[in-house]
Amino acid sequence: MANRMPTSIHSYPMIGGDGPHSYIRNSSYQKAAIESVRTKTREAILAKTPNFDLNIYKIADFGCSVGSNTLDVVQNIIETLKLKRQQEENKGDNNEHPEFHVFFNDKPDNDFNTLFKTLPQYYLDREVFACGVPGSFYHQLFSRNSLHIGHTSNTLHWLSTTPEDVCNQNSQAWNKNSIHCTNLVNEVTQAYKKLFEKEIGAFIEARTQELVSGGLMIILGWCLPDGVKMIRTWKGVVFDMIEDCLIHMAKSGITSVEKVESFNLPIYFPQFNELKEVMEKNGCFTIEIMEEVKHPMEDMPLSNDFIASIFRTTMHGVIEEHFGDGVVDELLDRFAKELTKHPIDFKDCQKDMQYFIFLKRKTD
Ligand code: SAH
Repeated sequence: MANRMPTSIHSYPMIGGDGPHSYIRNSSYQKAAIESVRTKTREAILAKTPNFDLNIYKIADFGCSVGSNTLDVVQNIIETLKLKRQQEENKGDNNEHPEFHVFFNDKPDNDFNTLFKTLPQYYLDREVFACGVPGSFYHQLFSRNSLHIGHTSNTLHWLSTTPEDVCNQNSQAWNKNSIHCTNLVNEVTQAYKKLFEKEIGAFIEARTQELVSGGLMIILGWCLPDGVKMIRTWKGVVFDMIEDCLIHMAKSGITSVEKVESFNLPIYFPQFNELKEVMEKNGCFTIEIMEEVKHPMEDMPLSNDFIASIFRTTMHGVIEEHFGDGVVDELLDRFAKELTKHPIDFKDCQKDMQYFIFLKRKTD
């Protein structure tokens, strides 16, 4: 079989379960992002979905994680499709009740059990059929021409791995002095950018295979305004603080300098133009919408506790994968204390950018 996914893929899941540090309880920042495009998503689906003339809609959420965010997203899509259907029925086009098949995708380590335990009643009443699809969304996950609507939110800044050169001492792109792409060293930026372009290209190519003609792909994510460096944003400042904590921990012998120097986050925020170029490169979709959307919390300084909780739930997996479980809690505790001592000066930071993209699969 062609294009098989490797059995061992890097995985850094969000914290599962429903405990105090879980994604369920610590994803209101991501939820606010989703909420900010709810109406826009509805309007775009109503305006752009073709009359598929079918009774089963297949919807996938790529990188669903756990909790109500993915369920809200899917509910919004289903309600909108039902509304669209009613409008068509009034025109006499179709009068059967449609069925909805929903596919929740994430990496295999995602806590699918908790997700399925929290499915709303209407799934259990068999109005909507749910299943989990484990695997990397940088590969094809569904058979050809089988999906009508794909969605992904707060996901595409996660690369599947770290660019090789940034960990290679002999490379000009060796990112010895940082744990992320600060955009201060051109070679490092280029290494991240190259991998990002390859992976987003693969994401779009996989969706090209899976979506039917006229099928929609909705993407909500994070990038940087053109010309802004990651290090100047509050998220970049946070990554630097985590690095400082790691350096102190290496000095105290809790971890080693080598481990810190070889740690690089598999995260990349492209500049808006870079993203646009990659989207335009794949000729199989029309870009119906690609724009900045304001995040509801953009203008408010976030509290230290809030920042610490976001980073604990989202970064726990990736830190644990590299440093082992003896380091991760200590690091995140130190980071939380550091934030209290040196709160982020939001006035001094430049803004990152939330984007909304709405693609429509062209007819072959
Ligand atoms: N979409 C949800 C969750 C976002 S958290 C929301 O908006 O709240 C990011 C999720 O993307 C995590 O669950 C992570 O495991 C998943 N993810 C990251 N890279 C992935 C990949 N290559 N394939 C599938 N899922 C991925």
